Amino acid sequence: MEVVSRNFIEHEIDKDLEEGVYSEVCTRFPPEPNGYLHIGHAKSVLLNYGLSKDYKGTFHLRFDDTNPVKEDVEYVESIMEDVKWLGVDFKDHLHFASDYFDTMYECAIRLINKGVAYVDDLSADEIRDYRGTLTEPGKNSPYRERSVEENLSLFQEMKDGLVEDGKRVLRAKINMASPNLNMRDPVLYRVAHISHHRTGNQWCIYPMYDFAHPIEDAIEGITHSICTLEFEDHRPLYDWVVKETEFDPRPRQIEFAKLNLSDVVMGKRYIKKLVDEKTVDGWDDPRLVTLSALRRRGYTKEAIEEFVKMVGVSKSNGIVDYAMLEYCIREDLKLKRSRMMAILDPVKLVIENYPEGKTEKLSMPNNMENEGLGQRELTFSRELYIEREDFMVVPPKKYFRLYPDNEVRLMGAYFVKCTGYDLDDEGNVTCVYGTYDPETKSGSGFTGRKVKGTIHWVNALDGKKVEVRLYEKLIQDDRTYAINPDSLKIVRNAYVENNFQDAKPGESFQFVRNGFYCIDTKDSTEENMVFNRIVSLKSTFRL
Ligand code: ATP
Ligand code: MG
Ligand code: MG
Repeated sequence: MEVVSRNFIEHEIDKDLEEGVYSEVCTRFPPEPNGYLHIGHAKSVLLNYGLSKDYKGTFHLRFDDTNPVKEDVEYVESIMEDVKWLGVDFKDHLHFASDYFDTMYECAIRLINKGVAYVDDLSADEIRDYRGTLTEPGKNSPYRERSVEENLSLFQEMKDGLVEDGKRVLRAKINMASPNLNMRDPVLYRVAHISHHRTGNQWCIYPMYDFAHPIEDAIEGITHSICTLEFEDHRPLYDWVVKETEFDPRPRQIEFAKLNLSDVVMGKRYIKKLVDEKTVDGWDDPRLVTLSALRRRGYTKEAIEEFVKMVGVSKSNGIVDYAMLEYCIREDLKLKRSRMMAILDPVKLVIENYPEGKTEKLSMPNNMENEGLGQRELTFSRELYIEREDFMVVPPKKYFRLYPDNEVRLMGAYFVKCTGYDLDDEGNVTCVYGTYDPETKSGSGFTGRKVKGTIHWVNALDGKKVEVRLYEKLIQDDRTYAINPDSLKIVRNAYVENNFQDAKPGESFQFVRNGFYCIDTKDSTEENMVFNRIVSLKSTFRL
């Protein structure tokens, strides 16, 4: 019997359903449209969507667009594309917090009428000073005891555009001595004369996150509002807002640990900086871990799903090894993709006893471990390219590849024995010579003798010259985010076998003995094909 362990969020939901707190489950993913989604967001989307599926409930995609300063429609569109790509269906439940501005405003009026919100004339700096510290209680604002009528009229002035930015705010009247700083009369509304990407100039007051978010959840009937741990001590305020605004039933907030990945730049703010400073080639630069970058690099949604599952949901912060993400894409592509031949650092191999002008056709399985991918034809002739590292003049111990007088198998073709080589003035190998044995053809059942090494090759006659982009980690250090100057290496004279003629941008392959590669969707053309290395075959990660 398989035991599926349930995470702590599922335990909480089970309990709520048993106790009749809620009759069904409704979750949401609430991105702020101020940047592109990254792998951390994928964890949150898939967690929320997965819960809605498991409990036969509902899932909402809601744009938390209450802060127009940093928001933009470009981000709204990219987020929708990314969420869709993850296989999440939100077409009946796409929401915008800005659609609730009227309701939020009414909620604020309700709080003023109840005597639990007031207009404050203190400046932002003064408010901070009055707030106190963890060890010292705060002080009441001199404006805290304004009458309901005065508050209503001052709030109206704020709404009507009669107040300058920063001159007045609406605050909750809770407790300036609360041990929780978030409860010391938090700001609910501020003045900002700025146009919103959806509501234009209709509003010049905007609600603060801690006020807006619970109301958004409540309006939509969200039951479990799942967010990351840094909001844990905002939960009393969340509960205060839903209680005082008198929504029923009340949503509840549950926190889980953020995904932190080693060796990558996470956090929209930092990624945006790299994009703005042009350190990277846009939000989808394959060195980033935004979803659009991972997609461009050749990551599949299945690999991301598997990764998120492996990481799991927890209540304590930790750092996940980037190698785990690489492990997931390797595992996903291993049986799904054809294994093709490509030479990244070519040196010519001339087979001296192979007739000049002759070309023969060889057949090869596309994936030795998955017959379902079928066979393909390759051409073979006298001149081939092999990897420079597959030949050595003076081999070290246990080197089973090509060196003078040694014999290897050319993958899917023949045994070839090295007979010589040319060097240039600097001692670099410029050409390797060999002879082949016609009896050793792959698939012929030849058993006469064995060789220890098999190397791959590309026919020099019809191989296609391509560009290959090799990626290393973008940052040298997780704390300082210092940029690695060698994070991108461009190889301009790689050769791939002629079977790539019809390959399209976005398609991915294994290059045998090397790694997985994806044809770039942005820069690849028919004349200059560009391949992104998704991941190399070697792994440092062990399950
Ligand atoms: P960032 O920290 O990258 O700026 P954010 O939290 O400001 O992201 P939002 O658009 O507010 O971005 O996030 C939408 C949802 O995604 C929130 O519920 C947030 O908690 C969640 N989320 C953001 N980053 C992560 C992460 N690293 N791991 C898990 N969930 C995350
Ligand atoms: Mg946020
Ligand atoms: Mg943020």
